[in-house]
Amino acid sequence: MNPCLHCGACCASLRVDFAAHELQSRGGTVPDGLAVEVNGNTCRMRGTDHVPVRCAALCGSVGVQTHCGIYEWRPAPCHEFEAGSPACARARLRHGLAPLPD
Ligand code: SF4
Ligand code: SF4
Repeated sequence: MNPCLHCGACCASLRVDFAAHELQSRGGTVPDGLAVEVNGNTCRMRGTDHVPVRCAALCGSVGVQTHCGIYEWRPAPCHEFEAGSPACARARLRHGLAPLPD
């Protein structure tokens, strides 16, 4: 079972900025309504600079059951984020979750 489906900590810990050309309106896949513009070249997943952090696309309860509501259309930083990485462990720690086992 994919451990991320019981986690979601990274989606509720990190600011998620991505290239504006990843927006649907610019020929990409990310729904515009789930993003905010940072500048002409950069967008941010809505909610990822709020306190507490929570990406607007995240569904479910962190640490219990979660999934990305735009999994197939999520931006590059989300594709690149690695489960089991040090950043993953830090995000999990913020939510009181132990690091993934090796
Ligand atoms: S913090 Fe790690 S385990 Fe949790 S959802 Fe993100 S990548 Fe998956
Ligand atoms: S777009 Fe999906 S994978 Fe990326 S931060 Fe938001 S909920 Fe997480």
